[in-house]
Amino acid sequence: MQTETLFSIRTPTGQPLRIRRQSFYAHKGNPSKRVSFLAGLHGDELEGVALCHRLIRYLRGLEAGEPEAFLGEVHVYPAVNPQALGAATRLWPFFGSDMNRQLGEKNGHSLPAEASRQLQDSLQRSSDIVVDLHASNLHLKELPQIRIVEEFDRKLIPLAQHTGADLIWVHPASGIFESTFGYNLNRAKIPTLVVEAGICLRIDDALSEQMFDGMVHLLHHLGVLATQTGATAAKPPHLVHSSQVHQVQAGRAGLFLCQARLGQTVQEGDPLGTVVDPLRGEVAEAIAAPVAGLVFTLREHPLAYEGALLVRIAQPNRSQP
Ligand SMILES: [Zn+2]
Repeated sequence: MQTETLFSIRTPTGQPLRIRRQSFYAHKGNPSKRVSFLAGLHGDELEGVALCHRLIRYLRGLEAGEPEAFLGEVHVYPAVNPQALGAATRLWPFFGSDMNRQLGEKNGHSLPAEASRQLQDSLQRSSDIVVDLHASNLHLKELPQIRIVEEFDRKLIPLAQHTGADLIWVHPASGIFESTFGYNLNRAKIPTLVVEAGICLRIDDALSEQMFDGMVHLLHHLGVLATQTGATAAKPPHLVHSSQVHQVQAGRAGLFLCQARLGQTVQEGDPLGTVVDPLRGEVAEAIAAPVAGLVFTLREHPLAYEGALLVRIAQPNRSQP
């Protein structure tokens, strides 16, 4: 294992700011493939940071006991936005910048933009494949899923099948992705999987373990590791396109009292919960599943305004059970 610093400055308050990675190199040199894991671009998303910890602990053990298992190279960047992680905020403090919206031609010379460029350079120089780990916001909890912009689907779906995620969601391109790491790395012909899992500011052990198993399986599938001992088999995800994703929104403001479970398979008409009006002491709205399918997004934060997203359901393909 080799610790490398790819960006380092002293902040005006005197504290150092460093972006570091842990690298594991091929036992005999000449790596089969080079895979990088990236976490903490958004400082309130901790699932990926926890997953990086699990991966590094596993790879350290493997390197000590079975070094010949390393046929390729693995780089783990567990905390790439330390200022935001320290403040537990999505954005880089003071600048109010989203580190995952800094890439592209129009961006200036701010510290977050410079750190993002150096991180991008480091990833481009040392990766054949990148996994960019995210969690959801404060309101919604997500099953582990890979989100793929349509124009990259042919390259990314075969990789995403081996990640142990519950779902692969292929969606149309949108301008909001153009300054992200995922989009720019994919455009630079470095296949990059964007993972969304859990909820911000929390770590869910079961999700973390599921993703760990999936990522070890991916490294084995890619021929980077000769073994996947210590990780259980990963099941293939459901593949859905945006037309199969049904969003259930609140029709009235109130508190969402949830009856559904994340990962539950529901039938059309099954109860998902109620929106209650605490002022009047009434049930404002009973929420039922509009279609049959997998509940893969669930509102955890109960306060719901009119139009708030409560549940996402993935409708199965005809060939899926
Ligand atoms: Zn994120």
